Amino acid sequence: VKQVTVISGKGGTGKTSLVASLARLAAPLVTADCDVDAANLALLLPGLDGVHAPFYSGRQASIDPRLCQGCGLCQQACRFRAVAVEGAGPARLNPFACEGCGACVLVCPEQALELVEKLVGVWTVRPAETGPLVHAMLGVAQDNSGKLVSRVREEAARAARAEGLELVLIDGPPGIGCPVQAAVGGVDLVLAVTEPTSSGEHDLSRVLDLARQSRIPAAVVINKADLDPQARQRIESLAAEAGAPVLGRLPFDREVPLALARGELPLAVPAMAGRIERIWAAVQDLLVSDPGPAEAPAVVAGTSQIR
Ligand code: SF4
Ligand code: SF4
Repeated sequence: VKQVTVISGKGGTGKTSLVASLARLAAPLVTADCDVDAANLALLLPGLDGVHAPFYSGRQASIDPRLCQGCGLCQQACRFRAVAVEGAGPARLNPFACEGCGACVLVCPEQALELVEKLVGVWTVRPAETGPLVHAMLGVAQDNSGKLVSRVREEAARAARAEGLELVLIDGPPGIGCPVQAAVGGVDLVLAVTEPTSSGEHDLSRVLDLARQSRIPAAVVINKADLDPQARQRIESLAAEAGAPVLGRLPFDREVPLALARGELPLAVPAMAGRIERIWAAVQDLLVSDPGPAEAPAVVAGTSQIR
């Protein structure tokens, strides 16, 4: 099973709509939305409702009010102000502040406290029109998004094996932090979607650095490429220095947001369709040629450039 992760460093570059378009061209395949804080790929790839499963990670305190005598020792022991005793009532827990350290459990003379597994999110596998789509939703104010991303990828790989599919296309989270590293680790190709702006340039630099450090081949797509020719040139130079071929340059087209508002993909826009098809063909070429780590000389800047 080949795995391709599409990332952008920043939001709003058109990454998810490109993922959905590539998925339509590559179908049948498994798609995985690893932006667990704000998953939206399912909006672009309609399908039936799927199987939902809880995701537990870490632990937090749980108070049995029947045993609590309100002595306040747990409140004194908690460095995170997550548990408090007010009046004569039993201790009350603020689950958003609890770090699961267990100090309160140790000091409670009534054994009214215990550490329990923490429900931090839900993951889902649903039959989309392009094949199984795995996505997840991290709970409000929960951390451990990297672990939930890993679970999404595990379930995506499992779905691919179960259905005999050869490609997992991953819609990565924004940034370059823990969730992104969980989304790119061990994949065959990182496809970075950027735009010719200062922030696009800056974030592409960080994304390509991440791919290089992870020893994963990278390629670039420049969206809204005609908005600023000078910035585009700087991005192309950046990609060339990193040994990441530019697989496509998509123009700015007002028809794209209008198509998305109608629930259609950029593929439905005539100015985009051929360009996206060529990007998909170039991705396939890279996967077949297995170019190796990003630093390897086999990946030569510009060899897969498409106009
Ligand atoms: S230490 Fe135990 S008994 Fe005392 S207030 Fe906390 S939970 Fe209640
Ligand atoms: S587990 Fe730790 S952080 Fe949570 S309430 Fe107890 S002492 Fe506070």
